[in-house]
Amino acid sequence: MKPIGAFGASAYQIQSLQLFRGADSLRIAPLLQDCPIVQVEQGEVVTDPQRARLYIVLRGALSVAADTSTGMSDGTTISKILPGESVGEQAVLDDEANQASITALEQSELLVIESELAWQLIDAANGVARNLLRLLSFRIRAANAQLRRRQKLGEFYRQLSMVDGLTGLYNRAWLNDFLPQLVASAQATGQPLSLIMLDIDHFKKFNDSHGHLQGDQALRTAAQVLTGALRPTDFAVRYGGEEMMVVLPDTNVQVAEAVAVRLCQRMRDAIVFSDMRQPLPHITSSFGVAALAPSQDETSLIAAADAALYRAKESGRNCVEVSR
Ligand code: GH3
Ligand code: MG
Ligand code: MG
Repeated sequence: MKPIGAFGASAYQIQSLQLFRGADSLRIAPLLQDCPIVQVEQGEVVTDPQRARLYIVLRGALSVAADTSTGMSDGTTISKILPGESVGEQAVLDDEANQASITALEQSELLVIESELAWQLIDAANGVARNLLRLLSFRIRAANAQLRRRQKLGEFYRQLSMVDGLTGLYNRAWLNDFLPQLVASAQATGQPLSLIMLDIDHFKKFNDSHGHLQGDQALRTAAQVLTGALRPTDFAVRYGGEEMMVVLPDTNVQVAEAVAVRLCQRMRDAIVFSDMRQPLPHITSSFGVAALAPSQDETSLIAAADAALYRAKESGRNCVEVSR
């Protein structure tokens, strides 16, 4: 930073500076008279980590990477400060050295206002205080908007991590998070809750005869059968491998059984892919149904549905068994 003179001796106009716009120039001018102007070169870092200062860009441009000390920023948020605009107001107000990292984007001239002088200017002219408040309010608003965007993005990624990439169904992470909640809510309200556990039949053989890629396609088809047949309040989950689960809130065991029978039928009818030379490949699945019993927890509910599924496999597959 090279000092090149005082503001009083320069041709710059007070009213062209955002912070002093509309403020009483006669009161401000004497205070700014000896205020130093410095020249900074492109790429030069402007921050003085020792003291709070306000910089006003007179010529050129600065880039400001947001405060990295709050933990709210990743340090990549950049704003550009153009002639007439200032940076460091917050540092001056709370008397902390500037945390943001400020760099000259091109050769620039800056008016440097030390913290004490900034306070004198505020005391001397109400207009300065008013401009400062307006500026800070604008910055807080921008920071809040950014925070909201981050939260939304975080939520988006959280949801993404709860969805199975191959089928688009919810995954085990989702189940671990939400099934306990659904069970607790059903126990608290006395509403029924049912589970359908299903497993594709002889899927190893399907893979062996059609290849793993077509196996993946069969899993997608099975997932579509589930999502296409369920109510918006039901949840379809890929439990693992070729095992899936349907969670049915507010549904008793009779209705859940009827749903499973419908799913079994649709699974049988679904066409996995068209092949002109072979009969159309189909898949079937076996289903186990269980409803939540009083004071039962999610682990034992899953075990009950799983036991019913095992019986469906035992009794020849492509069918529904209910835990009673
Ligand atoms: P069962 O009727 O008793 O269920 O017989 P099965 O062959 O379906 O059962 P098993 O558990 O022996 O085999 C499951 C097969 O599912 C083996 C595995 O390669 C396949 N599989 C699991 N996940 C995937 C996947 O993501 N893609 C494909 N293509 N296959 C998968
Ligand atoms: Mg299987
Ligand atoms: Mg299996």
